[in-house]
Amino acid sequence: MLIDTHAHLYAEEFDTDRSEMIQRATDAKVNYLLLPNIDVESIPKMEALAATHSNCIQMMGLHPAYVKEDWEQQLDLMEKKLFENPKLYCAVGEIGMDLYWDKTFIDAQKIAFRRQVSWAKELGLPIAIHAREAFPEILEILDDMNDASLKGVFHCFTGHEQIARHILKYGGFKLGIGGVVTYKNSHLAELLKKIDLEHLVIETDAPYLTPMPFRGKRNESEYVKYVAEKLSDIYHVSVDTIAEITSKNAVELFQLERFKI
Ligand SMILES: [Zn+2]
Repeated sequence: MLIDTHAHLYAEEFDTDRSEMIQRATDAKVNYLLLPNIDVESIPKMEALAATHSNCIQMMGLHPAYVKEDWEQQLDLMEKKLFENPKLYCAVGEIGMDLYWDKTFIDAQKIAFRRQVSWAKELGLPIAIHAREAFPEILEILDDMNDASLKGVFHCFTGHEQIARHILKYGGFKLGIGGVVTYKNSHLAELLKKIDLEHLVIETDAPYLTPMPFRGKRNESEYVKYVAEKLSDIYHVSVDTIAEITSKNAVELFQLERFKI
């Protein structure tokens, strides 16, 4: 069994073949597909997908790149949904900070991140973190807010060793490894040789960040197997062992046994 811990399968890129794409993932033994939310507009699309595919499990949260003028109203609506029916969700995500595209809302991003982290702590849910050009800011907030109850994943982790060590010291956090690990110019493979497998979960971030050999094309959940294959090369263990360990990590982190698939 494999688990795609981060996939935007409600995206319009899948409008023509969504069910077939999910079937291909199922055929490749990718059993759970975890759906990070983006903003209020993506919620109905995500809900529709989860309603028809029991292996698609929702997260709830406001993506930092979508923190705009109306961020507080967006958070109010998400908070209402989340607290009305927390059992529907496997995580608060994706949340975090993104200072790559735009720094206009840096203060709002920080407040939004803190508010969503506190939801997760209150509900006992993990957080799925998006960090782009923002490790110092995110780690400052987590240094302040981390406690024994907080857990989560740094999705699409591509940071350096010092940052990985800092994150793993929190105690409840995993690194989410996706297609970037298969890219020739990535330092990630070298870094992972120093990081134990017990700290990793795998993901696609579909439809983005497609692994080799399909880099540049649309990504989909079946391709998480190429991430597992690359990890098998890096760690010199079988793909089955990679699947077993990373799936166990994901089931524990997201408490996936709660969801009947
Ligand atoms: Zn994402």
